[in-house]
Amino acid sequence: MDAALGLLRKYYGYSSFRPGQGEVIANAAAGRDTLVLMPTGGGKSLCYQIPALMLPGCAIVVSPLIALMIDQVTALRANGIPAVAIHSNQDERVNREYLYDASQGRVKLIYISPERLMIELENIVASVNVSLIAIDEAHCISQWGHDFRPVYTELSSLKSRLPDVPMMALTATADRLTRQDIAGALGLVDPFAWIGSFDRPNLSIQVFNDPGKAKRVQIISRLIERYHSDSGIVYCLSRKKTEDMHRALEQAGYRSVCYHAGMTPREREMAQRAFVNGDVQVVCATIAFGMGIDKSNIRWVVHNNIPGNIESYYQEIGRAGRDGMPAETILFYNYGDVIMRRQFVDDSGQPEINNEKLDFMQRYAEATVCRRRILLSYFSEESVTDCGNCDNCRNPREKFDGTVLAQKVLSAVIRVNAREGISMIIDILRASYRQDLVQRGYDRLKTYGVGRDLSSRAWHSYILQMIQLGLLEVAYDDNFHLRPTALGMRVVKGQQRIELAVFVDTAFAAKKPGAKGKAGAGYGAKGAGYGAAGGTLFSNDEKLMEVLKRVRKELADREKIAAYMVFHDSALADMVAKRPQDIVAFSQINGAGEKKTARYGEAFVNAIRNFKG
Ligand code: ADP
Ligand code: ZN
Repeated sequence: MDAALGLLRKYYGYSSFRPGQGEVIANAAAGRDTLVLMPTGGGKSLCYQIPALMLPGCAIVVSPLIALMIDQVTALRANGIPAVAIHSNQDERVNREYLYDASQGRVKLIYISPERLMIELENIVASVNVSLIAIDEAHCISQWGHDFRPVYTELSSLKSRLPDVPMMALTATADRLTRQDIAGALGLVDPFAWIGSFDRPNLSIQVFNDPGKAKRVQIISRLIERYHSDSGIVYCLSRKKTEDMHRALEQAGYRSVCYHAGMTPREREMAQRAFVNGDVQVVCATIAFGMGIDKSNIRWVVHNNIPGNIESYYQEIGRAGRDGMPAETILFYNYGDVIMRRQFVDDSGQPEINNEKLDFMQRYAEATVCRRRILLSYFSEESVTDCGNCDNCRNPREKFDGTVLAQKVLSAVIRVNAREGISMIIDILRASYRQDLVQRGYDRLKTYGVGRDLSSRAWHSYILQMIQLGLLEVAYDDNFHLRPTALGMRVVKGQQRIELAVFVDTAFAAKKPGAKGKAGAGYGAKGAGYGAAGGTLFSNDEKLMEVLKRVRKELADREKIAAYMVFHDSALADMVAKRPQDIVAFSQINGAGEKKTARYGEAFVNAIRNFKG
C-alpha cells in the first residue's frame, strides 16, 4: 500500500486515495480480477494506472473512443508515465513503433480500441509482457446496458487467451443486472468488486413539466445569471434543437457555443476548449459532449429534452458539481420528446430493452416521490430517507403510510414466486377471473382479492412507486416479472415502514379531447406557432383515430365481424384521449371489458405505443 501511495504522490501529486481506489489497486496489484463501479469523476483511471506502474510489464487499456484515449495518454505523459495509444487516426508506422517500444519494456500502458485489440491480440501476446487488462466503459459488453456494443462481446475471449493476467472491468453506469453480465461475459474469476456510491447529494434535481420555449430560455437565463462566472451545459436531443437553443441564448445576451456531430472535429475542439477555458457561459450540446471532460466547476446541467434512459441522464447530470459544491440540474419534460425517442429506440438494435429503459425514464419524469431515491434504487443502492434536495421533496405530494398496502403487493409477488408481472399482480389483488389466473390457481391464494377496494389504476400507481422506492424490482431478463428486493422483504416483515404518495386519478378529471396531448407545445412549434398549437394537437389526435380505426378494421376482417363489434367509435375516442400504454391502462377504456381487453388490447396498445404523431 505504501508503494501505491508513493506512486500516487510521485506521479499525480495527490496525497490520499479516494474511496475504493486503494482497495481496487491492492487487489489488482496482487493479481486478482476486479470490477470497479464508480460514478463519473469518481477516479476510475487511477485504479488501473497505479497497478500498471506497480506490476512488471505493460497494461492494456481497452477504451471505445479515440478522443478519450488521446486525452488520457496526454495526461499520463504529462505526469511522466510512458503511455501510448494505438488507433487508426495515426500513421501505421507510429502504431508499429509503439508496439515495438512496448515489446522492449519501454511502455507501461497501451490504450487501444476493442476492435483493434482483437486484431493485434496474437501479436501483443507474443511480444509484450502484459501485466493487466483494463476494460473501460465495460457496460458496453452487456445487452442489458444502455450502450451495448457488439464488438465488446469479442473481449470475452481475452480471459482464456491470457488466463494469468489480472483483468479489471470499469464502468460508471450499470444496474445490478448489467454488473453481473459484465463479470460473466468477461469471465472474471472471483472478482473483487468495488461498488461505489452513486449518491451525489450536492446535485439538486428538478423536473419542469412541459415548459414552452420562452419559459425554457428564461429558466436557463436565470441559471446563467446565478452562476455568471461559471458555466453550464444544455443537452438537446438533436442538432437542430441545439442550434435553436444556442441562438436563443445568444439573443438573450449570453456567451454560448454549440457542440454536435454536424460540426467538424476542429470546430468541436474549439467549442470544447472555449468551454473548458471558461470563455463561454454555456454550451448547447448533444449527448456526445462531456465525455472525458474533467471540468470541476460546471454548476448546472439542463436537459432540454428527455434522455433515453436513466444511465445517460445520471451520467449527464453528474458532470455538474464534480467539486462537491452545490450544483443544479433541471429536466424539461415533454411528452412529445418521448414519442420522438421511441422512434430512435424502435430503430435501435434492441428495441425491447431500450423501450423498457425509456419507460423507466418517463416514469421518473412523471414521478411524485423523491427523485434521488428513484435514481439510487435504479442503481440498486438502498435508501430509506427522502433527500430534501429534489423538487418532489421540496413540494411534497400528499403522503400516507403505505406499509400495509405495500405488504399486500409484496405478499402477492412472493406467493406467485416472483413469476408474474405487474398486471397479473393487480388482477390477483383485485380478484379478477382471468382465465390464466384461475388456471394457475392464483384464485386460491390468500392475497386473492385483498385489494378490491382500489382501482387498477391506483394499484398501478402504487406498484410503480414501490419499484421507484426500491421495494420491488423488474426482472428485465425474465419476462419483466416483479421481484421483491431486500428492502421489500423488510417491509413485508414489518421491519420497515413506507410512505406512498396519494394516487390522484387525472385520467378521469374532466378533459376536452385534444387538451390531453400536451405533446405539442414547445415541440416542433417553431416559435410563433403557439396560437395554432391546439389545432395541431387536434389533428394529431385525428391521426391516431385513423390508425386505431385501421387496427379495428383488420381485427374485424380477421374475425369476419362488423367493425363496431370490435369497439364502438366512443371506445376508440377514449383510447385517443387516454392513450393507454399498457394492458392495465387499456382495461380502463370505456367499452373494454376483460374479454375484449384480452382479445384486442394488445393490438391497440401496440398501435398507440408505436404512434409517432
Ligand atoms: P472517472 O474516470 O471515474 O470519471 P477520473 O479517473 O477521470 O474519473 O478522475 C476524475 C478526477 O479526479 C481527475 O481529475 C483525477 O485526476 C482526480 N482524482 C482521481 N483520484 C484522485 C485522488 N486520489 N486524489 C485527488 N484527485 C483524484
Ligand atoms: Zn428528494
